[in-house]
Amino acid sequence: MTSDKTRNWRPRTTLVHGATLRSQFGEMSESIFLTQGYVYESAEAAEARFKGESPGFIYSRYANPTVDMFEKRMCALEGAEDARATASGMAAVANAILCSLKAGDHIVAARALFGSCRWVIDTLAPRYGIEATLVDGKDIANWEQAVRPNTRLFFLESPTNPTLEVIDIAAVAGLANSIGARLVVDNVFATPLLQRPLDLGAHVVVYSATKHIDGQGRCLGGIILSDKAWIDENLHDYFRHTGPCMSPFNAWTLLKGLETLPVRVDQQMRSAARIADFLAQSPQIERVVYPGRPDHPQADVIARQMSGGSTLVCFDVKGGKAGAFAFQNALDIVLISNNLGDAKSLITHPETTTHKNLSDEARAEGGIGSGTLRLSIGLEDTDDLLEDIGQALAAVGKAG
Ligand SMILES: *Cc1c(COP(=O)(O)O)cnc(C)c1O
Repeated sequence: MTSDKTRNWRPRTTLVHGATLRSQFGEMSESIFLTQGYVYESAEAAEARFKGESPGFIYSRYANPTVDMFEKRMCALEGAEDARATASGMAAVANAILCSLKAGDHIVAARALFGSCRWVIDTLAPRYGIEATLVDGKDIANWEQAVRPNTRLFFLESPTNPTLEVIDIAAVAGLANSIGARLVVDNVFATPLLQRPLDLGAHVVVYSATKHIDGQGRCLGGIILSDKAWIDENLHDYFRHTGPCMSPFNAWTLLKGLETLPVRVDQQMRSAARIADFLAQSPQIERVVYPGRPDHPQADVIARQMSGGSTLVCFDVKGGKAGAFAFQNALDIVLISNNLGDAKSLITHPETTTHKNLSDEARAEGGIGSGTLRLSIGLEDTDDLLEDIGQALAAVGKAG
């Protein structure tokens, strides 16, 4: 991705052609280099490669051509200098946080977090002497108050899981810069297409590629993107010596996912917007949160920092847990599952699944009630989805 021509490509072109590495056979589709190691032409060539004097691959724990294509294509899309792909989204989050900190450092994180991210920050990090303060991330004053002399890292997710709250990334990045800390943004819910954290001043972006980037429920993957100096200093040696790397097969699957990402996200968002409006006028629904609707509590921030709403809708069904369960069980097309960003529409009841390990207070703070459901819109026909949701709501109405 170094030629001037490729640098000017728009995202859709980059996602199809960016960073393609063709072998001497001129294959059309990206190759899967399912190899652990590489052969050197001579002992001298091996020596030069290990010394870093000649470019090339050494061992697939360090780097692999298929994984390299995925990393470079993501860099081109995100506007990042460098990246490391990981075996899962959680490997990306955990390593972005732990590799850049040491005992005695302090993290401030927005409290509305994916369950495993919260565990890394409030349970794992303290075991290594890294303290954390969780704040309501929507108000910048809360971040300011939580800062200590040893604060080195800010972490946030926006829109948040599952309630789709939005945090002002530029404001938090500005505060991070003013105290010499780094801001890491988990951008999974926005996808690389709807929000560009690095342009907003964030220093590091992480993804679970398992979600929209794969988009067809096939494999796990993750990626950490930042400037080259940060990656060199914090991740380079750690990745070589501890091996959280992505498999070449998964990198290939995810490269194929990137080709169709914009088409899928566009369609999912169009359906999500219609479904959010449909739910908002239903008497069986207490609350709808959708980042594309003017009644979203942070609609002003969304207008500033996002180029689209979301492929997910969060809503509360009347009747608490019984209402939410009856609604889920009455759905025919929408499947009950905790993945998101998939071609199939999926629904989750956070209180009893993804967020069951949180205390009642923590769930209440996060706006997760007994009737709260998270709906990830797939690629089915919007009218079929509306009919399915409509008949499930009617069933809840009768039961209530
Ligand atoms: C799914 C998810 C993760 C973890 O990703 P995995 O690929 O499942 O390990 C992290 N953050 C957010 C916001 C997620 O939705």
